[in-house]
Amino acid sequence: MFLDSKDWTLDFTKFVPEEEKTTEALCAVGNGYMGTRGAFEESVSSDCHYPGTYMPGLYNILESQVGDRVIENEDFVNCPNWTSVTFKINDDEWFDISKVEVLDYHKQLNFKHGQLVRKLRFKDDKDRITTVESLRFVSMHSKHLACVRYVITPENYSGEICVRSALDGDISNQGVDRYKQLNSLHLAPVSESYDEKGICLSAATNQSSILIEMAARNCFYVGAKKIDSTSNYVTRKRYAAEESTFQVNEGQSLRLDKIVSIVTSRDRDERDTQYAAGEELLKAEDFDTIHSQHCVEWDTLWEKADIEIEGAEDVQRVLRFHTYHLLITASKNNIDIDASIPARGLHGEAYRGHIFWDELYIFPFYYLHFPEITKACLLYRYRRIDKAREYAAEHGYKGAMYPWQTGSSGREETQVIHLNPKSGEWGPDNDSLQRHVSLAIAYNTWMYYQTTEDREFLYRYGAEMLLEIARFWSSKAALNEKTGNYEIDKVMGPNEYHEMAPGAKEGGLKDNAYTNVLTVWLMNKCLDLQNHLAKEELKEIEEKISLDKKEKERWRDIAAKMNLVIKDDIISQHDGFLNLKELDWDAYRKKYKDIGRMDRILKADGLSPDDYQVSKQADWLMTFYVLSVEEVIKIFHGLGYTFNSDILRKNYDYYLARTSHGSTLSLIAHARVAALLNDIPKSIEWFKKALYADIGDIQGGTVKEGIHTGLMAGTIFVFLTAFAGVDFFGERISFRPSLPEEWKRIKCNFTFKNVDYFVTITHGNIKIVIDNTDRNEVLVSVLDKEYQLKRGKEVEIGF
Ligand code: BGC
Repeated sequence: MFLDSKDWTLDFTKFVPEEEKTTEALCAVGNGYMGTRGAFEESVSSDCHYPGTYMPGLYNILESQVGDRVIENEDFVNCPNWTSVTFKINDDEWFDISKVEVLDYHKQLNFKHGQLVRKLRFKDDKDRITTVESLRFVSMHSKHLACVRYVITPENYSGEICVRSALDGDISNQGVDRYKQLNSLHLAPVSESYDEKGICLSAATNQSSILIEMAARNCFYVGAKKIDSTSNYVTRKRYAAEESTFQVNEGQSLRLDKIVSIVTSRDRDERDTQYAAGEELLKAEDFDTIHSQHCVEWDTLWEKADIEIEGAEDVQRVLRFHTYHLLITASKNNIDIDASIPARGLHGEAYRGHIFWDELYIFPFYYLHFPEITKACLLYRYRRIDKAREYAAEHGYKGAMYPWQTGSSGREETQVIHLNPKSGEWGPDNDSLQRHVSLAIAYNTWMYYQTTEDREFLYRYGAEMLLEIARFWSSKAALNEKTGNYEIDKVMGPNEYHEMAPGAKEGGLKDNAYTNVLTVWLMNKCLDLQNHLAKEELKEIEEKISLDKKEKERWRDIAAKMNLVIKDDIISQHDGFLNLKELDWDAYRKKYKDIGRMDRILKADGLSPDDYQVSKQADWLMTFYVLSVEEVIKIFHGLGYTFNSDILRKNYDYYLARTSHGSTLSLIAHARVAALLNDIPKSIEWFKKALYADIGDIQGGTVKEGIHTGLMAGTIFVFLTAFAGVDFFGERISFRPSLPEEWKRIKCNFTFKNVDYFVTITHGNIKIVIDNTDRNEVLVSVLDKEYQLKRGKEVEIGF
């Protein structure tokens, strides 16, 4: 009864136990404030199921013994399970899907209205046929509320059905097999209670002391009639449940509407949290009202963020699926939350919910549609600038060095040792040397400002981050007296396979080209801040951080003399890369079905990726993901290097032949660069690989641990920049559409410098209308020709 048409849905019509955990991540529901995996209501953690609810910023640290050392990990805490509902017929056992014959199965994620629906028809060992239908959502409208509607219909029998609706805090983090040897019990029980209004469960994280409080109200209906139940309450440590029994006749439906409120002490002060969930629940309306408010909210979100594609139904559906997952990971409900967007969403425990440079891929979706969300995430970074300063100082640098992985405090959370699942061995983890994360933060800060003109943000927070990050890179760059160039040593690039020079004892590489070019970009931006802030404002910030003229002079020098290692037009990913041995890629492709994680393959064979020209993902090519080609050319020229017209093509071909795409991020980077090379068929090929990467779980089992947020946002970025051809890197919007042949028409919206753009593109025609702006006229360019747009008046341009 809850199923919808297919355009806006992801459907699973066969129950496959081995794939269930993957579908749980793909079918998560959420509202930014929390995200809940699409595990069966009846399930608990097992080989087949893994219920999980995650809240941004809700972390906990535990120590674990690994061999002879004690290591600390900050984890993304799996919160108590609010979805739990199950039932039994007469006095039989509680429902267990493994003990019945499934006759009919349909699990459907509905993106349009942010809800998960399931229909299950089964026959039990007494030949009774029962249909169970459920619908769940996390309210986009009222961030503390989440609901389940659960309907049981006995088809060929009458009997007593007992329904148990619970709040289950008896869980630990078990979502990632690799972490299973580590301590995982993060929740301590606080209280479990009930009264005539419902059940209540409080738990607290045992290190970070975050109180999580949940309250649930259960309303029952037989047919259309509301029934007052006489319930039996079951409470024990970490668990509170209400059990209600009803006589249900053949063909009748027993319905439960479960309304849950969830509050944590991160939202308010702890004393208030204790009763807050109950209070939120008291305020809550009935299921249908909450549901319709939720749907209205989703309609508004889609008005802002939807992309329409005519002529490519499935691309359309999956792009919406990606948009949906971004919207449930961060929404306006996050604006007051001190957190950013985890690399694997609110969908699982991979990478422990940590925040990475992936923001660089994720944020464009937000600053072009919901800039206030980007701002909230950048403020999370700003609040941790002191930690970044400390981190820089610890390593002998100045300014702010942000950690590669970060959670609650802003300290470095990257593991020091890492398990190679192929060899089963723990080895050192040098990933924290990916200092380029600080460049991503500077870049995101700038791009947020550039696309929103939020000068106030730049003045209060952004400029300080930019300057302190520039200061860090300046202290990291060293002048080579012999060459007269600046070099940057002891870093790793986005290609994580290379950790050190062959034979070196210490991690880190010299002159990662992506890092060096972005450092120059950053120095230039910082030296140009006077054109964006008032003189007194800039002076005030510079005084605050004691920045003197001499430092800026050094920045100017660095921006003119940064070293790049170039041989025959190929920019060396890092110094020495081009001299490394070549791999026999064909042989590896023949031997292994999947060579994505070439590092693990090589290590398990006793070899080191450091010795080979092998790349996990786009590294040097990432420069072109973030900067326009014109900007890169300017930087090259400023450094005294030439950049002729086929350099990009040559570098793309060179690195493509040496990249294993072990990260899904690589797919979108290549889609973007192929489009820059005007190779739209290739670009669409990459784009489609990226599009189906999570929905098809192409990495063979990573999706069950969470979606790839960067990948999902990246596909939207590629759609906008490559196919709609929107360029938002400059002062004004320009369009250079390149519709893939098979697409007939696309429609998209975005916001740039406080102007909403509504765009429709067909082959040879673009229609643009602007709205929501205080400016009456806006200048745009289409294929290098300028056009004046007037608010509300559609302009149609043929090309
Ligand atoms: C990628 C990184 C990324 C991380 C988190 C890794 O596999 O190589 O670039 O930041 O995943 O998504």
